[in-house]
Amino acid sequence: MSKFWSPFVSTLVPYVPGEQPKLTKLIKLNTNENPYGPSPKAIAAMRAILNDDLRLYPDPNSDLLKQAVAAYYGVQRNQVFLGNGSDEVLAHVFNALFRHGRPLLFPDISYSFYPVYCGLYDIEFDAIALDEQFQIRVEDYAKPNGGIIFPNPNAPTGCLLALEAVEQMLKSNPDSVVVVDEAYIDFGGETAIGLVDRYPNLLVTQTLSKSRSLAGLRVGLAVGHPDLIEALERVKNSFNSYPLDRLAIVGATAAFEDREYFESTCQRVIDSRDVLVKQLEAKGFEVLPSAANFIFARHPQHDAAGLAAKLREQGVIVRHFKQERIAQFLRISIGTPEHNQALVDGLGDL
Ligand code: PMP
Repeated sequence: MSKFWSPFVSTLVPYVPGEQPKLTKLIKLNTNENPYGPSPKAIAAMRAILNDDLRLYPDPNSDLLKQAVAAYYGVQRNQVFLGNGSDEVLAHVFNALFRHGRPLLFPDISYSFYPVYCGLYDIEFDAIALDEQFQIRVEDYAKPNGGIIFPNPNAPTGCLLALEAVEQMLKSNPDSVVVVDEAYIDFGGETAIGLVDRYPNLLVTQTLSKSRSLAGLRVGLAVGHPDLIEALERVKNSFNSYPLDRLAIVGATAAFEDREYFESTCQRVIDSRDVLVKQLEAKGFEVLPSAANFIFARHPQHDAAGLAAKLREQGVIVRHFKQERIAQFLRISIGTPEHNQALVDGLGDL
């Protein structure tokens, strides 16, 4: 703390991202990155524009990418918002749509950035407990609120809420914005974007960091009613006119256009997940049903922190949250078949 700080800065509790180790030999199953690279067409498109044009600012509206996203999902361009990763999109969502003086609702076990944004934007929240099976109970969200947000599939559980249940949530909260954070939807769920034309209170966020393997490029998006998008644009244009650089616009557009590569790499991750779940269950783990590119697992006889430390010694890193209710779980990102086998071997005979 310093006398130069704006006073509220000392009250912030910043988000702590998963470790990005300097040791390159480690097998990283800790931050839900995609084990396969981005589309070769995305790489080629970015290489092709690495030239003197970088002296020029990018298009502040990223129209090329907006058009590609709109075409992909069958929506209009004014229903699409873009940001520097979905974290930035979410930051603008909290600022533009959740500051109503009533508590924001989200699950007690969900993306740990949500309470951080509440702290940054001075938003009161009510963390709603998942049920005993770690599932979202839609009925629990039918109470006065200033907005609702949840990841679907949820993080770090990986559990999917069926689209009918999402629709129920929208119907029972017609006066609140309901944000469905679909960072992991492409690994086993059906997007709610198809509902945006019927529910003006629905906003869906997605990222290119996971299923399109571009975490390093930082591109995220939101789709919803033009009125919601306009609020986000107003905040964005009061903050940073150019959140997406020239490479990001071109690379992300090419990634969206390469549907074949996207579908085949998602399927490889899904197939590896099925294999890994069976291997861990054979070792006695309880694994929550996952529709994501990670699994959430606990062992009835072995302490999770101990297992994470043991794996690290074997060169494999996974994520462990020192948090109530989930302190005995490990969150394990799905790697290549070789990475997953190293994890299974690293656990040894339990
Ligand atoms: N939402 C959820 C649920 C996430 O797990 C993540 C990844 N940490 C994000 C959003 C943000 O991803 P990005 O900023 O890379 O788009």
